[in-house]
Amino acid sequence: MILPGGTIGILGGGQLGRMLAMSAAYLGYRVIAFAPEKDAVIAQVCDRYISAEWDDAAALKAFADACDVVTLEFENVPAAPLQAIADKLAPHPRALAIAQDRLAEKRFVAELGGKPAPFHPVDSREDLLAGIDAVGTPAILKTRCDGYDGKGQWRIGSREEAEALDLPDAPCILEGFVDFACEFSVILARRADDVVVFWESSENGHEGGVLARSILPGAAIIGEQVAEARKLAQAVAEKLDYVGVLTLEFFAGKDGPIFNEMAPRTHNSGHWTIEGAATSQFENQVRAICGLPLGDTRRVAPRVVMENVIGPAAATAHEALADPGAHLHLYGKTDAPEGRKMGHITRLEWPEGDGSE
Ligand code: AMP
Repeated sequence: MILPGGTIGILGGGQLGRMLAMSAAYLGYRVIAFAPEKDAVIAQVCDRYISAEWDDAAALKAFADACDVVTLEFENVPAAPLQAIADKLAPHPRALAIAQDRLAEKRFVAELGGKPAPFHPVDSREDLLAGIDAVGTPAILKTRCDGYDGKGQWRIGSREEAEALDLPDAPCILEGFVDFACEFSVILARRADDVVVFWESSENGHEGGVLARSILPGAAIIGEQVAEARKLAQAVAEKLDYVGVLTLEFFAGKDGPIFNEMAPRTHNSGHWTIEGAATSQFENQVRAICGLPLGDTRRVAPRVVMENVIGPAAATAHEALADPGAHLHLYGKTDAPEGRKMGHITRLEWPEGDGSE
């Protein structure tokens, strides 16, 4: 067990790390963060920030030596240099290596009984056309690595479009287009001794490939499918001997949950847990990696809605506070270009007349 007063290392400098660092501080831990950016938003809230390249082996080792445990807030950290500090890492880099590659993760999950959308690896035009024959149209071509928030994705409506597409210069995967009722994610926290807790699955609404909002309770179909989705998420966590918070995203299809992707970290669709659950995803990540007991995950209001603040909307986001049930989180980013996640607002809602008077 790593007791409060110990030092947690975080790989990555973005908002997930920033919220994690704040939870660590509540519990009395110190935080050192490591990322290549010169000016990372995590640096505003942690004890020390080290700006160095991922493959700077000496800097990475010095960082790990100064920490009792190291976790991550960003899954595109190259897995190979992390092998040298694997004994300090939670989760282990093997989880990262799988989650970084859409093809590897789909094969891995399928072996455990999960159902991904039909897929086909694409390294050439011939592969793409063979993939169209295999999965049909419409389909989505995605880069296998480094994609996020709908980036590195091309929707293909017909074989002609596939023939004309300017192929990216990177290994890809073609996925059949899933006809789904809604999207949801399963977020769990697991300790090394196999204690696992789940948060309720929100209904996730995307706009332009980016999460726009999470709503709880979600649609009834999520309730019907969540047990199967959780079973798969737990099997993934066990197989990887996972320690920390793990997210699996699903489409609620007509025949059950269809696996989309996994993230070896906390997730945007779990931000509602900061005010909306008894214990947040960030606090339980700290507890899991330090070996402390995991906190109660239940929802604390009849309805919880989390909305992302994206791009220039950040300038007026504080106006949401006119609603006393709204909680504003801004991530400390100075540039607000279109599409950038700048913050989020969580609203706890009680039905009319269910007040304290
Ligand atoms: P991803 O980065 O793979 O999570 O994709 C971003 C969003 O694009 C998803 O949350 C879905 O809304 C949509 N999407 C991705 N893959 C598919 C698919 N195979 N079928 C239908 N919609 C998809």
